Order: sequence, then structure tokens, then C-alpha cells
Amino acid sequence: MNSPADETPVYFQRDKLLLAPYAMHSRHSAGRKHPEPLHPYRGPYHRDRDRIVHSAAYRRLSAKTQVFTGELGDYHRTRLTHTLEVASIARTLARALRLNEDLVEALALAHDLGHPPYGHAGEDVLAACLAGQGGFSHNEQALRIVELLEQRYPEFPGLNLSLEVLAGQATRIRHDTRAARPLLEVQVVEAADSVAYDTHDADDALELGLLTLEQLSETALWREAAQRVGARYAALTGPELKRALLHELIDWQVGDLLEQSRLNIQHCGLTCADDVRRSDLVVKASGELAAKKIELERFLHQRVYRHPQVLTQRELAQHELRELFAGYCARPELMPDRFGQRIADYGLARTVADYLAGMTDRFARHEYARLFTGRATT
Ligand code: MG
Repeated sequence: MNSPADETPVYFQRDKLLLAPYAMHSRHSAGRKHPEPLHPYRGPYHRDRDRIVHSAAYRRLSAKTQVFTGELGDYHRTRLTHTLEVASIARTLARALRLNEDLVEALALAHDLGHPPYGHAGEDVLAACLAGQGGFSHNEQALRIVELLEQRYPEFPGLNLSLEVLAGQATRIRHDTRAARPLLEVQVVEAADSVAYDTHDADDALELGLLTLEQLSETALWREAAQRVGARYAALTGPELKRALLHELIDWQVGDLLEQSRLNIQHCGLTCADDVRRSDLVVKASGELAAKKIELERFLHQRVYRHPQVLTQRELAQHELRELFAGYCARPELMPDRFGQRIADYGLARTVADYLAGMTDRFARHEYARLFTGRATT
């Protein structure tokens, strides 16, 4: 069912009513690699979002590591809950700046699709295994998934997403200062990713007992958040204080981003999406807050990501993945047929990496136990 040619789709009208002139309006989309007719009531980015949500790679995010593996407990974020927090924060920013929320949500939901099992620990193994053969990065893998690996439609490989979604994900890979600037919708997702992980990685580390609130107060961001919370709720302690601090941290960062971005938009005189492409980056934290975030990130890097408990899990996970990579390279027939068929086109190493990168932590562990210890896990 297509809209009659003389009728403007309702989503184009809605964009016109609700979006700022510098937002990405759906009617200006460059379309898809494999052209498709417009949908009668779902705009192009709304369809992209739906395609991502219905993909296998998206569902598998629920059993993939964000920072901490499932071995450490069930409280902390998975790659899926991180993705949903990013989408939620990005949507808040987009609505307040009158940007295209559907495009923002599609970008946010796709941004981490390419993570292999065990997060960055897994990524480092695959990058080493593919050194000299094109390498491996989760951002590039996300594009490979949505352009090639997902098999959902008979007419084309991948999800055939709008070109703006693909271009947005591509900016996460290439940092070419001469290239066109990303759309504001892309900039918003990047900023939301940073708000989410800076906040939730500290929360997860507190819950796992890797850090204390006192230790986090060594950073200016947490100290100042504690002062703000203390001014409103003097008596809070323990878990209640922690929850109030987390709310404050997100609210503070989002408020700061909005204030600074509005100033930048005004300063750059943005009047359309093409102005955005020619302008400086505008969605960013104020200089003062950005410095505090960098301090927190350094702190988390030293105290959390390099914590002995986290490193032990990391080494175990990396050993498993290295063995799996070597095992499938030696015996490609152990992979499903559809992967075996890809070897001729993409080479053995890339095909094995594609198969491994698609696995959840649980499935990788199960396969490792099955192939190398002769034991099946539950
Ligand atoms: Mg992320």
C-alpha cells in the first residue's frame, strides 16, 4: 500500500510542524541503497528503527557484556540496557532541540550492534586475529551487520537502512576533520552515549563493590553532584544517596548539553541540515563540565576497567575467544552452512570473525566448552 502521489505523507507534515529547520527532515532523506517506496504511515527513520529492533543482532545485545560480564552478577548493564539508556537520553536531547527523534532512536539502537561477546576484551582479540587483514572494530562491524550480515528480507542483504543512518554510524569510524560534520541527530547520540556510560559504569562499579562513594568523591564531578544533592536532601546516605547522585549526574549533564548546544546553534546561525554539515560540532558539553568528565573517565579507567577482578574475567574471556577463532579457522565446517558459504567471498578469517562477533557471551562460552573441554554448559 503506497500513498497516492498527490498526498503528502503524514510524517512529512509532522516533521514540518515539529522539527527545527536545522533538524534532518525525513523528506530530505537521500533514500536507501536499494530503493523502496515510501511507507503509508511510517517515516523512513521510523522504519529503520523498527528494522533494527526486529534484527537478531539487536536481540543478542541482551546477553553481551557492556563492561562487566555476567559472571560478576546480574545488576549491572548489558549491552542492551546500555543501548536503551543511550536511546532514552538521546531522545530527551532530540525532543528538547526539536530534532528528528526517529532518526536519533535508530542511530542509538544501532550504535553498539557490532560489539562481539565480552565487550572491548573481545574486540581486542578479534582486532589482533585480523591484524593485516582489515582489522576489526565494533563500529565497523555494526555497519557490516546492517549492510550485509543480517538476513531479514528476500530483496537485499542487511537491513537496507536509510543512508543518513549509515552515514551517522560511519562517523563513529572515521574522524576526518575535512569531512562533512555529522547531523545534529548523530551528534546527540554521541553525547548521550558519553552521558550514559560515564554515569552507569560508576553505578555498576559501586554495586559490584569495586569502588566506594568516598573514592568517587575524589573526582570533581561526583563531589559537585554530592553538593547539589546535599543542598536538597541533607539526610540521604547509602543506596538512597547513590540513586539521588546518579539522577543528578544525568540531569546535570543533559541540562548542560542542552544549554551549550543551544548557544552553539545560535552562534553558528544554523538554518538547515546542510548548515550543520558545514559547521563546527555543536552538541557538546560546556568546557567546564567536559573537563570534569575527562577526569572521571581517567579515574574509571584506572580504578574500574583495570580492576584485578575485571582483568581476571577479561583474560579468561580473551583466552576463550582466541581458542574459538583458531578452532573455527582449523575446522570451518563447525560453523553453520551460511557462514561456510561466505568464505569464498570474504576469506576465512573475516568469516570466522563475523560468526564469533555475532555470538552472545553465553553462546561463546557454551561453544568453547563444547569444542575444547568436551563439556556442554547449561
Ligand atoms: Mg555505546
